[in-house]
Amino acid sequence: MDLFDKCKNFVVYKEIEQAGLYPYFQPISSEQGTEVIINGKKILMLGSNSYLGLTVHPKVKQAAINAIKKYGTGCAGSRFLNGTLDIHIELEEKLAKFTKKEKAVLFSTGFQANLGAIAGLVGKDDYVIIDKSDHASIVDGTKLSFGEVKRFLHNDMQSLEKVLQSIDIDAGKLIVVDGIYSMDGDIANLPEIIKLKKKYNARVMVDDAHAFGVIGENGSGTASHFNLIEDTDIIMGTFSKSFASLGGFIAADAYVIDYLKHFARSLIFSASITPASCAAVLASLEIMQSEPQLIEKLWANTNRMRNGLKSAGFDTLQSCTPIIPVLVGEDLKVLQYRKMLFEEGIFVNPVVSPAVPKNKALIRLSLMATHTFDQIDFAIEKITKVGKKLGVI
Ligand code: PMP
Repeated sequence: MDLFDKCKNFVVYKEIEQAGLYPYFQPISSEQGTEVIINGKKILMLGSNSYLGLTVHPKVKQAAINAIKKYGTGCAGSRFLNGTLDIHIELEEKLAKFTKKEKAVLFSTGFQANLGAIAGLVGKDDYVIIDKSDHASIVDGTKLSFGEVKRFLHNDMQSLEKVLQSIDIDAGKLIVVDGIYSMDGDIANLPEIIKLKKKYNARVMVDDAHAFGVIGENGSGTASHFNLIEDTDIIMGTFSKSFASLGGFIAADAYVIDYLKHFARSLIFSASITPASCAAVLASLEIMQSEPQLIEKLWANTNRMRNGLKSAGFDTLQSCTPIIPVLVGEDLKVLQYRKMLFEEGIFVNPVVSPAVPKNKALIRLSLMATHTFDQIDFAIEKITKVGKKLGVI
């Protein structure tokens, strides 16, 4: 056996490619607002995680340009050594204030924040308990930890309690959930999770990648949304969505952050976020807090889209956020749906197995505050037209 045999035998995508249905790695040759240019064609973007549309905001762009002028293009080292800038510290302090936690620490991506925090905190003899729909970076974080991993059924509190009952009450336990789930667009049942964490002597970490800029006071996330900030031990965020940049962070009690700063390997052994990335987040955070009408518009857009799709007969699952899944069925049909929508001028993300169970494949729409009602109505019309052609509705 040659190590590369698996690569040579990897034909699934080739077949899809030959059928002209391969949907991934599409190069965009413009900035990513509500419209993008792909293959020279203007396309309505319904697959971006930039929920507030800030990646193209003039103030955010200018902040990044100014930071490059002042600090250069990179930090050439880890936060631990030569890679800490004064604006990294400023951002950490502002994020701690925003999330109402004592301290925050930046990571180079959200993925690394989850790896570093989970592997750094969950040691031998500890347990980490995750929702079956948690993000891949949480799953990988548990694999890097030396603790024992337990899973519970998606947002199912009976299943979580059963898992907790099976663990020694005195053992260290970390429950990790997404605040808003990235495939289904539903919200974690944090009030019940907190009740269980208290009953069974556990700690709770919430991945708010998709919740910042979307729910909570001024978009400050799931714990704020449920008024459970104190009881939520660890809040994780990414900068690659509403914060219009790249990077991630963990916010928690000061002693937890101080510990992570010395035990999170993905922090210590990886370069810090660039000056431009950091400055873009600072500007986005400022806008998020000073322009609440953006979040209001995001929700108006979300409700218009979801209501439109529901009245056309689509199944949008349990979604109650700007992530709206549209159930289609077979993987192949989803790939055809995506392609036909693209030909109609609309970009959506296909979600096929194994990311979702077989025959539960879906197209996933993500709304932005900057979409216009006209764009949303256009999308509903096209999604309905193609859905009828493909027999989805
Ligand atoms: N957690 C969740 C729930 C996510 O959706 C993502 C990004 N897809 C991440 C973590 C990773 O964040 P980043 O893109 O900053 O690596």
